[in-house]
Amino acid sequence: MLLKYTINQSIFFQKERVKWAEQKKKKFTYHFTYYLFFKIAMTNYYIQHYRRRYQRINFFDMNQDDLKAYYINYFPSRSVYEWLTRKRVIVPKPIAEKIKSNNESDDESDSDSELEHLTMNSMNIAANNREIAFEYASGAYGRYLTFPTYKQFYDKITNVVPNRFEIGAIYENVPKKIENLFGSGNKALGNKNIPLEKEFVFDIDMDDYDPYRTCCSGSQICDSCWSIFINCAVEILSTVLYEYFNWNNFFFVYSGRRGLHLWIMDYEARTLGDNERTKVMDFLNLCKNRNCETRLNTNNGNTCLSRPLNPFIEDSLSITAKYFNDLLEKQDPFKETKDVRKILSTQFPDVTNQLNTYFMTNNGQSSTSKWMAVNDIYLKHMQTKLGRNYNDTKEKNKLLEQKEEVLLKYLYPKFDTEVSKKIGHLLKSPFCIHPGTGNVCVPIHISYQEKLDSKPISKSISKFSPSTCPNMKSLSKESDYFEYVNLFDEFLKHYLNLEEQRYDFEHSLKKTKVSSKQNDLSW
Ligand SMILES: [Zn+2]
Repeated sequence: MLLKYTINQSIFFQKERVKWAEQKKKKFTYHFTYYLFFKIAMTNYYIQHYRRRYQRINFFDMNQDDLKAYYINYFPSRSVYEWLTRKRVIVPKPIAEKIKSNNESDDESDSDSELEHLTMNSMNIAANNREIAFEYASGAYGRYLTFPTYKQFYDKITNVVPNRFEIGAIYENVPKKIENLFGSGNKALGNKNIPLEKEFVFDIDMDDYDPYRTCCSGSQICDSCWSIFINCAVEILSTVLYEYFNWNNFFFVYSGRRGLHLWIMDYEARTLGDNERTKVMDFLNLCKNRNCETRLNTNNGNTCLSRPLNPFIEDSLSITAKYFNDLLEKQDPFKETKDVRKILSTQFPDVTNQLNTYFMTNNGQSSTSKWMAVNDIYLKHMQTKLGRNYNDTKEKNKLLEQKEEVLLKYLYPKFDTEVSKKIGHLLKSPFCIHPGTGNVCVPIHISYQEKLDSKPISKSISKFSPSTCPNMKSLSKESDYFEYVNLFDEFLKHYLNLEEQRYDFEHSLKKTKVSSKQNDLSW
């Protein structure tokens, strides 16, 4: 009996052990498969992630020899230096001829003592006290560099070969890096070193248009989003600066990857302090938080911009209207997406649900048809809601105002305001190379005056698009690149003339004042 029990027990335990082993095996197989799957998925993710990252970082290989060759052969160092210092570099005739013949024979035997003559008036504060900042090949960053002579500037650029350099303010005294008591200070010499002037600059980055464009996102940019959003921004800014600020001397530069810089050189603009710059930006910036969700945001069905509109907004609106049809056709902006739902819910709060349903069920329709359908949906809803109180004209006006704000949301320029607000803020120089793409930061649109009281003349490289931008790797003596240099030189020529006129005008005013004072004294 006992034996039988023992045998049964042992068989039972044997079976249990087998069962347990099988379960364990199953469990292990399950976990292992899961683990393997997870591992493969993660590995795949990391491969994709690093491939993207690797591609992003090494999309363009910034080769120091190529960059040096660019600075020597293509970078318009003299023009850039003249622009920064607002005066022409004086080249004595015999030396100019020698340089010319050297350039022709490709003989780089200019002696230092001769190049030393390529200098400027030592009293030129714009040359002595202008901050330039270098980003070195090592990644280190050097601020508060100054170049009182063109030779120093040229030598430094061609010998040190910075990845890029940025432009800062012109200070009262020579700006210097100083160490503060607590370690690594990086301030201009004392707080008393006042920045006297710097071009008023604007920076527009295409990633701020992400909720409004359908072709690209992030740092990507293509000819479609450029030709709509950026061209519209250029037109609006050119109009507003001329009509409302009387600033006529400025140029737009492609930043090399995803954006646009605007440099305003009018005396009144470049001498503005931080407070005034902030006020100008508060005035101009309709899209307070770059996603247009603050100032351009409806509240309880009311439009957010006070009416009648400020004339500068009216003007901007009529420019956006020109680009909006293109936007509807090329970007199909009302494809059913989270961003579109967000825009509709804030812009047409009375009919958000109806619009969402309509857009979802008619997603195959073009954005132009959907945009037209907004009218019917809105007016029908308001008619039902208000019944006897429905006022056709009033509701149509309200709808029009709401639609106008959609146009501004989509197309009014979106500024990185921090770049504009501070006089001492640095901005990458024109004709630098974008380290990520190898594109040259070329000027694409200029506006200048021939005389102090004359109307401005505007010129553009109309064929420009990011895909045709001159690239460091493909420059040659025959390339289109020189059109951009010529455009900059044309601006510079008139700008330097204008500066001379302004100087003479102010000088003659001072003289008149002194002579009238003397007359007073004689009395
Ligand atoms: Zn695009």
